[in-house]
Amino acid sequence: MYFCPSCNIELIKNTNPFGIYWSCPICTGKAISLSVIRQAIPEPIVGDFWRKVTSEVHPQKKACPACKKLMSEAPIAIDNEVLEYLDICRTCFFVWFDSDELEALPHVEIPEEVIETLPYEVRLAIAEYNIERIATLREKEIEAEQVKKEIAIDILVVSVVLFVLFK
Ligand SMILES: [Zn+2]
Ligand SMILES: [Zn+2]
Repeated sequence: MYFCPSCNIELIKNTNPFGIYWSCPICTGKAISLSVIRQAIPEPIVGDFWRKVTSEVHPQKKACPACKKLMSEAPIAIDNEVLEYLDICRTCFFVWFDSDELEALPHVEIPEEVIETLPYEVRLAIAEYNIERIATLREKEIEAEQVKKEIAIDILVVSVVLFVLFK
């Protein structure tokens, strides 16, 4: 049984093409094991994150959903550009995403030629995500053109994979 570090209620088990993860029914935070994240995110990025976790001192703010020890808050980055600071338990290898951490990642169109190289499950999830996103954009009357397009493709793929598959 795992508990939300913010709400302290039991997390709900979910699955996606990469494996099992747990989410909070109240705050929508998510606990995802590092091994599942390794399936979704390219190894150099996860490897760099884990090196930072183990070799540097990081703030410790939240309790691990499994063992309740304090997690380390470490940056996940691509080419030194920090995507997010994520909480990770060095004992259980659980990574915690606050409700807004996935949503805060850049939402940018992925070029067709990049999408074609992704696994079927990811392409399907992106297609579903795009349909939902277009509806949301219309609701909020946000111009899609405002979206920044200069961000590196690597960041896009990683962000969308995280956002789409662990929602
Ligand atoms: Zn919660
Ligand atoms: Zn733990």
